[in-house]
Amino acid sequence: MSKTIIISNRLPLQLKINENTIETTPSVGGLATGMKSVHKQNNSIWIGWSGITEEEIDASIKSDINTALESHQCVGVPLTQNDIEGFYYGFSNNTLWPLFHYFMEYTAFEKNTWETYIDVNQKFADIVLQNLEDGDQIWVHDYQLLLLPNLIRKQKPEVSIGFFLHIPFPSYEVFRTIPCREELLKGMLGADLIGFHTYDYERHFLSSAQRILGHEIHFNNIHLDDRIVKVDSFPMGIDYNKFHQAAIEHNQKVKEDQTELQQEINKHIKKGNNQAKLILSIDRLDYTKGIANRLRAFEYFLDKYPQFRGKARLVMLAVPSRSNIPQYQILKNEIDQLVGRINGKFAEVSWTPIWYFYRSMPFENLIDLYISSEVALLTPIRDGMNLVAKEYIASKLDKKGVLILSEMTGASNEMSEALIINPNNFEEIADTLKFALEMPEEEQIKRNEALQKRLQRYNVEKWANDFMDSLQATKDDAIQYT
Ligand code: UDP
Repeated sequence: MSKTIIISNRLPLQLKINENTIETTPSVGGLATGMKSVHKQNNSIWIGWSGITEEEIDASIKSDINTALESHQCVGVPLTQNDIEGFYYGFSNNTLWPLFHYFMEYTAFEKNTWETYIDVNQKFADIVLQNLEDGDQIWVHDYQLLLLPNLIRKQKPEVSIGFFLHIPFPSYEVFRTIPCREELLKGMLGADLIGFHTYDYERHFLSSAQRILGHEIHFNNIHLDDRIVKVDSFPMGIDYNKFHQAAIEHNQKVKEDQTELQQEINKHIKKGNNQAKLILSIDRLDYTKGIANRLRAFEYFLDKYPQFRGKARLVMLAVPSRSNIPQYQILKNEIDQLVGRINGKFAEVSWTPIWYFYRSMPFENLIDLYISSEVALLTPIRDGMNLVAKEYIASKLDKKGVLILSEMTGASNEMSEALIINPNNFEEIADTLKFALEMPEEEQIKRNEALQKRLQRYNVEKWANDFMDSLQATKDDAIQYT
């Protein structure tokens, strides 16, 4: 029986080695959840890195690790410390990530990390080829594996390969600046179907394929000498029911026993501080997320509209991320200083303008924050999708709450009922914050009703199924065409 092979940088589970026992816990991230419907079928395997380098694995437990992975239909790609340095922290996150998010000044191109990136993509290809059987279909994920589709295609010309990019694809003018632009495009074009979150990213890719490689484009098809590659957009959704259900359970819990965070929220804000409204922001601490700009815009808001001092508070959760890359350390210092300065400037005995958490939070606490916040202020400078925007809306059982969302996020294309802002325009952010804090409840409900309906319908399972259906159709068309 043919199977689906899913491939991503990380496997959808966490491995923990305790003495000589191995524990596995499933990941809860968007991709892992989204692929569940594809992966839970018995005829699929997931290939990726386990999160533990070869140096950290004792030879005596290697086979136990493989058995543990196998029981979850997973196959590990063995990577060394050096691989992770060059491939993950180096080329993926110090070259591709900044370039694809339009941070050209942060984009380092180093020959040695590029070479490691090629080697590691080949390591992934070797494992895929070891597990590949006739009739299987392959779904490759994200920017760490841009070369993989073609590495597989070279060995197995007939196999059906889909590729999905979870980050933006930049415009031709930006993409063309990278020295290995041809290799990257050729790598991706090994796929039969290439998916993006938005039509804009799709358009940028088509234009690069045409102008850099000289391929002929008809609508969204790229004509290669021997094959046609289809390019399309598939905006990724969330597990809507998970957030909706968690919100229902949260409400029951509030009646019975509240989480610590909820008690604090009630104590300090709702009761002790004359109903100060909560403005929520949640992101990984990443320069693409516009956190420093958001803080400056919030300061500007408090200066421009002093009537909101004591009446609104920014609750900012910044999740530690890639903290061994210098730009991330610089950003962390900048944010620490900004929070300190703004709190110092405006704080009153009974009110501090910003509550800042630098850590990740358990799921129940995220839900607490989503439910308790009157406004969500999400201002990325550039973001492939932004799932937090969708999760915030899905958690609003009473449909009350206002989403302010950057137009530079993929999510803004599908969420036009949110208040869409330009993250570089402080004036607009300040005025929109005021508008959001004063928005009548009927209007909030009306906007959120429309948003929720759409999010419920285009959930993550539909995203995965649409992509797989389209891959199948692409293959069927190719057979007819030959
Ligand atoms: N998230 C989390 N723990 C936290 C904060 C956030 O698991 O403490 C999750 C959040 O629920 C969301 C994801 O992290 O699903 C962030 O996804 P998004 O698309 O917004 O941004 P990314 O980090 O992928 O750039």
